[in-house]
Amino acid sequence: MEEPINTAKQSPAKRQQAPLDQLGDLAAFAESSTFSALLTGSACQRSAALERYVEALGLRHYIEGDLLRLTTPPTELDITWLRGQMGAGAEIHYDRVVDSTNRIALERSMTGTSCFIAEFQSGGRGRSGRKWISPYGDNLSLSVAMVVDCSVASLGGLSLAIGFGMVEALRAQKVEGISLKWPNDVLLSGKKTAGILIEVDPVTAHRTKVVVGVGVNVGSFPHVDVIGQQATRIGLASTLSRETIALITIRAIERSAKRFILQGLSPIVERWREVDAYQNQEVDLLIGEDRVSGTNVGINHAGHLLIETTSGLEEFSMGDVSLRPSVGESE
Ligand code: ATP
Repeated sequence: MEEPINTAKQSPAKRQQAPLDQLGDLAAFAESSTFSALLTGSACQRSAALERYVEALGLRHYIEGDLLRLTTPPTELDITWLRGQMGAGAEIHYDRVVDSTNRIALERSMTGTSCFIAEFQSGGRGRSGRKWISPYGDNLSLSVAMVVDCSVASLGGLSLAIGFGMVEALRAQKVEGISLKWPNDVLLSGKKTAGILIEVDPVTAHRTKVVVGVGVNVGSFPHVDVIGQQATRIGLASTLSRETIALITIRAIERSAKRFILQGLSPIVERWREVDAYQNQEVDLLIGEDRVSGTNVGINHAGHLLIETTSGLEEFSMGDVSLRPSVGESE
């Protein structure tokens, strides 16, 4: 197996010290001529500050005497190409460094669909305060914001619908081995390759701003010791560029949201077994400190997970529930 990015010659303790919270400093560094030089493969004068910034951005580097150079300088996104492909479909906002694309998308006022993309998030968000970790320029961190004519309460199953749509879109691009882990993690060969976080803000009782945040591992992924689960990257199964994956992701989000608003989860419930990573398999559900084990038998029309346990059929809503293959199987 190839080396995951976050294992790069740093002790976990050292990674903890990286100034990830100093967003302003990091954003300014990302706009500096020193950073531009590093991205072109040039070596720069080594300093403690430079090392801290580069480490905070998750970039592997090496030292040659007084000089620091990136091991593999990332290529930044071709946003002009992406904007051209989207046409008038969605406004695309691009930043090198942000705290969270979801936070920005929630904050900004907007008219149509808007997309916020960054090369690096200093505080990438996951469900229930969990974190999304991704180094500068290797993967995709984007959020699509739209205002829909629905109440917050009616959007309960949206995240399953978006996850389903992303699996469909990647399979349509012939990415082999893609499946979905309830409620909405996209897996490649059984390992997490994309995560989705939906956040909502009610505009009126029947109108809601919806922000769909997606992190996709394209060029690298964090080590299991860092994130507590196995991850992988799309690049191992496909040569699709980051720009193309961004395009199909944005389109899949728009399409899936429209389908969900018109038809709810019905079309997905019928077809869930086509995408389900653990259909009829033994699984563990992690609910806080508790664990429920049983056979995964699918979802119901509310998008709840159905587990056949020793006490009978039980259903679970998303809440703070994490699904895992049964201990001893694939983790
Ligand atoms: P779980 O994956 O535990 O079921 P979740 O679906 O709520 O939880 P997300 O909100 O999608 O998870 O993402 C946060 C979790 O994803 C983190 O707790 C971590 O385990 C994992 N993670 C963080 N960064 C990455 C990454 N780049 N690739 C894969 N997994 C990641």
